[in-house]
Amino acid sequence: MMKIDLHLHSSASDGSLAPRALLKKASEEGFSAVALADHDTLQGVGEAREAARELGLCFLPAVELSVGEELEIHLLGYGVDENAPALQGLLAEMLRDREERVRKMAQKLRDAGYPVDYERVRSMAGGAVGRPHLARALVEAGAAASVSECFQRWIGRDAPFYVPRKKVSTRQGIRAVLEAGGVPVLAHPGQLRLSQQALDAEIGAMQAEGLRGLECYHNAHDPATQDWLREACKRRGLLVTGGSDFHGAAKPKVQLGSGLERWRDAEECLDALLRAVGEAKRGR
Ligand code: AMP
Ligand code: FE
Ligand code: FE
Ligand code: ZN
Repeated sequence: MMKIDLHLHSSASDGSLAPRALLKKASEEGFSAVALADHDTLQGVGEAREAARELGLCFLPAVELSVGEELEIHLLGYGVDENAPALQGLLAEMLRDREERVRKMAQKLRDAGYPVDYERVRSMAGGAVGRPHLARALVEAGAAASVSECFQRWIGRDAPFYVPRKKVSTRQGIRAVLEAGGVPVLAHPGQLRLSQQALDAEIGAMQAEGLRGLECYHNAHDPATQDWLREACKRRGLLVTGGSDFHGAAKPKVQLGSGLERWRDAEECLDALLRAVGEAKRGR
């Protein structure tokens, strides 16, 4: 069976491995097809693609957009063209907002007496800076024992130094992916923590805007969630995808392939996704 993992993070966002080292690791562990899906950036794609070519891996460029107004929705865009102007514009806007937001959170922490320097935080990300980098800088400075402690005490959604991101609507994210010749897929739907009814309604609304698939297999999905999502794909004619959401040492419990053990038809699903990417390019 082909080993496939369609959701990896590199140091271009909050993963710990540089794109080349990440692809090398995937190859050494016997993966034959992977997708790089960094948060709100495509900066790792060039290096990853080149490494994949050298290693003989099938490589799909992707991005994981943080969108949604009330909900924190993660939207995967598979096979996007890195040079598409609408997507580039959106990513540039999101990067500015990320920098601004992390700078504000760092300032609030400093004002409260915590030893944190924005420039140090900024330098920890190759591209899309975020709260994980801020947390790592706090750990490095000895202010906290772990990244999760930082989220809990200071920068998690309900914590005192949290600054919300600028809202990008789900519709806008889907549009940008489609205009870039990509295939929009809802990442880890189980993490939205919605009832089945509410999740189904959200999927329906997104499908009406152009959503093409669901990430059924993911490290955070239990078998019941995987089965429900697969059934939803079948009922709605959506593509099935799977990815571990590997972040390297940043999330040590998640290995390459974690959560994909029950994805028995991964190869067929990948073929369908690749066909959809081809159609998205032609239909643009
Ligand atoms: P940001 O994109 O800056 O809002 O940061 C969100 C990222 O932080 C998520 O994609 C996760 O990778 C990570 N994250 C969120 N909550 C936690 C947590 N409680 N502990 C550790 N990492 C977290
Ligand atoms: Fe992340
Ligand atoms: Fe995500
Ligand atoms: Zn992810």
